[in-house]
Amino acid sequence: MTSLIVDAAVIAADGQGSARPRPPRPAIYSVPRSADGRGLFGGDGIPRQPTVEAERLHRKQRLAASFRLFARFGYDYGGAGHITARDPERTDHFWVNPAGVYFGHVTVSSLLLVNHHGEIVEGDGHLNRAAFAIHSELHKARPDVIAAAHSHALWGKAFSAQSRLLAPISQDATAFYEDHVLFDDYTGVVLDSSEGERIAAALGNKKAAILRNHGLLTVGTTVESAVWWYIAAENAAQTQLISEAAGPIRPLDHEVAKHTHGQVGTEIGGWFSFQSLWDRVLREEPDFLD
Ligand SMILES: [Zn+2]
Repeated sequence: MTSLIVDAAVIAADGQGSARPRPPRPAIYSVPRSADGRGLFGGDGIPRQPTVEAERLHRKQRLAASFRLFARFGYDYGGAGHITARDPERTDHFWVNPAGVYFGHVTVSSLLLVNHHGEIVEGDGHLNRAAFAIHSELHKARPDVIAAAHSHALWGKAFSAQSRLLAPISQDATAFYEDHVLFDDYTGVVLDSSEGERIAAALGNKKAAILRNHGLLTVGTTVESAVWWYIAAENAAQTQLISEAAGPIRPLDHEVAKHTHGQVGTEIGGWFSFQSLWDRVLREEPDFLD
C-alpha cells in the first residue's frame, strides 16, 4: 500500500486527508557546478559562484535579503545602519543600502555601488556618510572581509554602554569568544575616514566590535556570515543582559569556550546559519529580488 504524506493544512473537514501530496521541500542552498559537474567551493568549504557576474548578483541578492531580515528583527531604529558587500571585480568598491530607504523596502536594484572616494558609481540614492567612513576603512584594512554589518539595534546598543566584552555564557555566545573587540573611543557620529581607520585598527582580525555607546559591528568573508554574526551578536548581548538581570551568571571556562568557538564560530558555520533565513525571506517577500 502506498502511503501519502499529507499536509496538515489540507485535512478535509471530515478529518480525511485529501490526496494532495506535500509540495517538495525547497533546497536549503544551491551549489554551483563547474563544467565537469563538480560543486564549486572556496577553500573554506563555502560555495562560490562560477563567474564574477554571478558572484556579484549573489552578493547583491543576499545583501537585499539581509535588510529585509534587519527590518524583521527590528534592527531599523531611525533607519540607522548599513550592510556593505565588496564588489567581486572592483574590489575597492562596495554595495550598500541607500540612506533613508526603509530596510524592509530595500531591493537588489535599489543598492548603491560606491567607490573608494565615496562616490556613487551605480544606483540612485543618497549615501550615508557614516557608512562610507566606517565601511571603506574596514574593507581596505581587511582584504578577507567581503561584508560588514552595523545598526543601532536595541540589545547591542544597551550592552555597548557597559563598555565590556561579551562573556561566553552560552554555546552560541562562544562564537565571539576571543573573537571580538571593544571600541572604547566614541567621539560622535563617524563622518570622517580617520574614525573608520581607528575602528578597523581596533577590530584587527576579529569578527565583531562592540562600539561603545553606539552599537554592534560585524564582518564576514561572505555577506551571509557577516549578517549572521550581527544577528548572533545581538542575541548574545540580549542573552547576557537578561541572564545577569535574573541572577549571577556562570560563564564557560577558557578551555571549553575556546574549543566551542572552534565549533560554532567558523565562517562556514555563520554562512550556514544564514541559509534558512534566506529561504524564509525568499518565500515570504520575494520582491527584494527586484
Ligand atoms: Zn552607527
